[in-house]
Amino acid sequence: MLHYYIWTIGCQMNKAESERLGSFLEQNGYQPTASAEEADLILLNSCVVRQSAENRVINKLNALKSLKRSHPDITLAVTGCLVDANISQLNEKFPQVDHFFKPGEYPQWLGKPERTQALPLHPPPSVYVPIIQGCNNFCSYCIVPYRRGREKSRPVAEIVGEVRELVHRGVKEIILLGQNVDSYGHDLSDKPDLADLLSELNIIDGLLRLRFLTSHPKDMSPKLIEKIARLDKVCEQISFPVQSGSNDILKAMRRGYTVEHFRQLVAEIRSKIPGVALSTDVIVGFPSESEEQFRQTFNLLSELRFDTIHIAGYSPRPGTSAARELVDNVPADEKRRRLNLIEQLHESIATDINAQLLGNTVEVLVEGKNKGKWQGRTRTDKLVFFSDNGEYTGQLVNIRIDKTSPWSLQGQIIPNTIN
Ligand code: SF4
Repeated sequence: MLHYYIWTIGCQMNKAESERLGSFLEQNGYQPTASAEEADLILLNSCVVRQSAENRVINKLNALKSLKRSHPDITLAVTGCLVDANISQLNEKFPQVDHFFKPGEYPQWLGKPERTQALPLHPPPSVYVPIIQGCNNFCSYCIVPYRRGREKSRPVAEIVGEVRELVHRGVKEIILLGQNVDSYGHDLSDKPDLADLLSELNIIDGLLRLRFLTSHPKDMSPKLIEKIARLDKVCEQISFPVQSGSNDILKAMRRGYTVEHFRQLVAEIRSKIPGVALSTDVIVGFPSESEEQFRQTFNLLSELRFDTIHIAGYSPRPGTSAARELVDNVPADEKRRRLNLIEQLHESIATDINAQLLGNTVEVLVEGKNKGKWQGRTRTDKLVFFSDNGEYTGQLVNIRIDKTSPWSLQGQIIPNTIN
């Protein structure tokens, strides 16, 4: 019996790809193992979005050198964003690696899979489905377009077929993934867009919920907003990174929109999709970000009151135009101060938003058990816990909320399970 070990870091795209690689290997006779030492095949799914992530990958590769020396029969392969166009350079730099292959690819030596072989036989209730690889945007701080390449969409029919198969295997919720899902389809011959794809998926029997990640504020169309409002399975939840509340910083980031455009987009989304939950990302301490420009970000976040804010302190990524052309001149302790201020703001807004749900009944898709409690999510992606002796994995249940915190909700099941 052959064993495989997959080590993954990075975003949901990598996690989704690793799940698929694991399913494919299991359907081709491999068993998973928890340690690299016991494996016949070691796969590293790499992330290089930050230099620290790339360093972790390099450290892992160095640590595996001696294992590879003592067990030369082990196959060591690397995929993910470390693998750019220059594979011969990677071969020279990491001679211990047998194979490099690009994200989303299934090389010949691995065996050419039928698409369905990359799908889990016993999937969890909620599954990620990548719909577009790469990015055409070239934000000044981001390495992704250089490593993942230009946007490449999967055909609608292929995605619909895959989702039908996943639903047949028990999946209830699909999360469509891409670096920029809003530009889905422009590279396909009949030019479908994300709204068209959602319409096709919405009619699949047995599918209960649809989500998608991540949107780009410059590409989110009125048609998409209308579709989210109209399609019953598409959840009222949108993730779109604003990154800064200063037009000068947005320009230096090459984000392609203004604060005014973003504000108008939020107003339009909230007017068309009642109860929508919004999440965003911000970077603080971008080169030359003044106190005034940071305040503009802080004030925008206070005004727009996102349900979730992902915050990062800027760090230059070698290979990007910001790292080449801009001076990383906001001191580390100042970045930390700005980050803390936004974290405190986020906690206070999330506390208020969640407290409004106290006493309400919410519909929860149950994902499974965590530390003895059932865990699931609302349509607005709020994490909910409840205790009960029944079996609820993959079911929609009604929960009356009796306790709230900034990060999760707790409640009691009310005894009419929805589905
Ligand atoms: S939209 Fe910008 S930040 Fe996002 S992956 Fe593309 S280049 Fe990177």
